Order: sequence, then C-alpha cells, then structure tokens
Amino acid sequence: MPSAVAPNVAPVKVLIIGGSYGGLGAALNLLDFSKGKYSRFSGKVGNDPKAGPESRVPVQIKIVDERDGYYHLIGSPLGLASTPHAEKFWTKFDEIIALRDPSITVAQGSAVNINATTKTATIFDSKSGKEYEEKYDFLVAASGLRREKQVVPQEKTKDKYLVEAAKQIAAVGVGEGVKNGKGVVVIGGGAVGIEMASELAVVHPTQRITLIHSHDRLLSSEPLPIEVANLCLTSLREQGVEVVLGQRVESSVEVEEGKYKLRLSNGNERTAGFVIWAISKQHPSTDYLPKEVHNSESGLVVIKDTLHFNAPGPFSTNHFAIGDLVQWSGIKRCGAAMHMGFLAANNIYQEILVSRGVKKEPTYLTYPEVPAMIALACGKQAISYSVEDGAKVGEDIMEVFFNDDLGFMICWNYLQLGTPSAEIEKGNTEKDIQILEEQVNDLSVKEKMIAGAVISAA
Ligand SMILES: Cc1cc2nc3c(=O)[nH]c(=O)nc-3n(C[C@H](O)[C@H](O)[C@H](O)COP(=O)(O)OP(=O)(O)OC[C@H]3O[C@@H](n4cnc5c(N)ncnc54)[C@H](O)[C@@H]3O)c2cc1C
Repeated sequence: MPSAVAPNVAPVKVLIIGGSYGGLGAALNLLDFSKGKYSRFSGKVGNDPKAGPESRVPVQIKIVDERDGYYHLIGSPLGLASTPHAEKFWTKFDEIIALRDPSITVAQGSAVNINATTKTATIFDSKSGKEYEEKYDFLVAASGLRREKQVVPQEKTKDKYLVEAAKQIAAVGVGEGVKNGKGVVVIGGGAVGIEMASELAVVHPTQRITLIHSHDRLLSSEPLPIEVANLCLTSLREQGVEVVLGQRVESSVEVEEGKYKLRLSNGNERTAGFVIWAISKQHPSTDYLPKEVHNSESGLVVIKDTLHFNAPGPFSTNHFAIGDLVQWSGIKRCGAAMHMGFLAANNIYQEILVSRGVKKEPTYLTYPEVPAMIALACGKQAISYSVEDGAKVGEDIMEVFFNDDLGFMICWNYLQLGTPSAEIEKGNTEKDIQILEEQVNDLSVKEKMIAGAVISAA
C-alpha cells in the first residue's frame, strides 16, 4: 500500500519545545500518524489499513532544544560516575537516524516567548546568538524541569558535557581504595540521591560512599509506603553505602582542593573528598510561558486530560503540554513523559483531520490520574512499587526496568531512535513486519511495566 502523504497541501507546522523523552515521543508518533502508519507506541508496525489516503497529511515538525542532542537523563547517576556511560548517554540530534526525515527539523536553541494569539514563538538561536520568530499551527511544551549540577549536567553541547562529566568522574574517584578515606558524601535520600549513591558504590567499589538524609526515612517526600524506603535502605547498606538518617547538612565548605568539611545538625563534623547535593531543587523550565498558564503554587503548567493547556484564551486550543512540566498526579517518570508525547501526537493529529474535513469530531485520547509508582535502580538490583504489585526488589527487577545501562537501550528502542523512518514505512515483506512487530511488542511489555497503569489505562 502506498504511504505518500497528500500532495499539494501546505504542511501543518508543529513546534515542539524540548527534544527529550516527551518531545521525541510526540514528534515521532505524530510523524507515523501523518504517514498513515501505525504509531510506534501502538505495538504494531507498517501501514494502518484504516488510514485512507485522505488521512495522510503533510506535517512540518520542528524540535527546539537547548542541547545539541538527546540526553538520557535517567542514566545520570551512572553517566556521571563512569566514562563509557557518559559518552553513551548523549547522542547528537544529527546522529539520530529516526530524525532524518524531511518532515522533521531540529534546532539548537531556547524558547524565549510564546505569543499564543498570533501562534508565534520567539527562539534564541544558540549558534548565531540571535533571536528569531517561528510561526506554528500547534505547539507542544516539553521542556521539563531545570535541575542542579552534579545530578544533571548543565552543559548544552556534547563536547562540553563530556568535559563536565569527566571532572565529576575524576572527583568521585579521588582517594579510592583508601581505607577510611574521605570518600564521597551524597546529600539527599530521595530517588535521585539513592541512585547516585548506589551507582557510585557499584562503579567505585573501593570508594567510601555516604548518603546523608535529613529525615528518619528515605524517600520521605514521595507518596510511597515505608516498605519501599526500607528496601532501599537495606539494598544501599548491602552495597556498602553508609546511610545517615535524621541529620541535616547545615554547611559544606571546600577547605582545600578535594577536601570538604560538612557540619551536621547534631553538631558533628565530617570530611569528604567530594560532595554531591541531590536535594530536590528543581523548577519547571517554562520561563517562556506566561504566568497564567502555571499553577501558582507549584509553578507547573496546568493541563486538561487531553493535554491541552487548561488556560483561558488562545492557549486553550492548539497548545499542549507534556512530561515533567505538567501539574498532574503521580511521580514524575520518563515512561509517563513518553506516553504523554504519544497522546499529544494523537490529539494533534485528530485536530488536523478535523481541520482538513476528513472527520467531523476528533477522537481524543485522555491521560488518566496516575497512582504513585516507581522503579528505582539501587546498584546491582532495582526496587519497584505499584499499587497492583506492591514492592519488589531484585536483580531480575533491575533487568526488566533498567537492564545494564540504566534504561538507555529500553528508551532508545521504545522511541525507535535507531530505526530510519523509511524502514518503518516500507511495509515490506511479511517476515520483516513480523520481526519488527515482535521487537516492538517485546519492548511494549517493558514499557508497560515502566509506565504501569498509565499505559494500560490509555
Ligand atoms: C538523576 C535522575 C534520575 C531519574 N531516574 C528516573 C528513573 O529511574 N525512572 C524514571 O521513569 N524517571 C526517572 N527520572 C525522571 C525522568 O528523567 C523525567 O521524568 C523525564 O526526563 C521527563 O522527561 P521530559 O521529556 O518531560 O523532560 P526532560 O527529560 O527534562 O527534557 C526536557 C528537554 O527540554 C529542553 N529544554 C529545557 N528548557 C528549554 C527551553 N526553554 N527551550 C528549549 N529546550 C528546552 C532540555 O534541554 C531537555 O532536553 C530521573 C530524573 C533524574 C534527574
């Protein structure tokens, strides 16, 4: 079956701010829909027999990201501890085969302002250092949260990021192997602090690693049962991480190069060779959006269950927000961001079909309320929790959720970043399709486990 899009029709312009899990999920699923394909998150491959020629609509998708590549954010605890993983976790956009499609462009830059009335974005172009205006028909805000250095790299190009990562990797290894050496102190026993401490313990097994948390239980800010916190505590201690609970770090001063003095709330002092602050200082990266689209307390973007902005005026139509930056139930996770990308792609495509007179009403997919669920890498094993399955721990859980690269290949394959769009398109032999379908279905199972109820309720 031919898959060419309708000729002589002006392409619909879709602007996506942020090219990570959410943004890429939106871009690539929309690309599939626009070509009359099954969308890549549907678990099916090839042409959708229900999509007639009129359903193939030309789109021009532009992704704008401050970084020059896709960065596997959830791998940070490993990437900032191990050189080969640092290299692996950042892929420049121009090296991503799936994005090599005439309907997709990627620009390195930063969104500065959105005029929803004229549907015009102001973008700061990182290369020229100048601002330009970009017209769009649909906008997807997928720019996530800004997070602190040491937990997430701050550099925007791969070359500079590798230098930043190398410095941290060198710092966490100083004094390795020295019994009772100064070691590394990780401050903050939330999910990120637990993963940072445990990955360090795996990559630097002879380094002294300490995790200090101000509350008397780990994961104290997450809506998770105490059982999950206790499993994390046991797992950390089994890996040789010293865990100090109920002590606030009141000050941390670098007294000389590679030597920090920490003062705790009980008056005790400790020294460390390196200190990682993994406390939840994060805020939405949405300075380019007006105040009225945000929740006044959290600063997150308020949305409807169709992922449209829930705001008065022109933002309420043609504007979508997905991923970490939205105000929604559930713990922020990459599986949720990717899934929201898929839903936004579907809903945009439906509105395009209506605007082209292909159908009368859009068939929206909605995002349900999400119960707390988590999968947390803790060294060689992982801990998972969902309401249905309760808390689990083990190396098998690690394999399912993260494998041996903190989920890099799981996310890469689920987004099909290494698959040329032509390959998905060719709808070639039945055997090819069967093989691709098997791969996709296998990944869907993993992703279902990552996204849990989010996927099954969709
Ligand atoms: C250390 C760590 C470990 C984690 N571990 C897990 C885990 O094990 N499992 C899990 O499910 N989740 C985990 N998470 C959470 C997960 O990373 C997020 O839920 C996920 O990254 C959200 O994806 P996103 O696409 O919404 O945003 P992000 O991944 O944050 O991407 C936002 C993108 O937007 C770009 N951007 C920002 N501002 C602008 C702008 N103004 N203009 C243009 N571009 C912009 C950024 O450069 C970035 O590429 C972890 C997070 C951290 C920090």
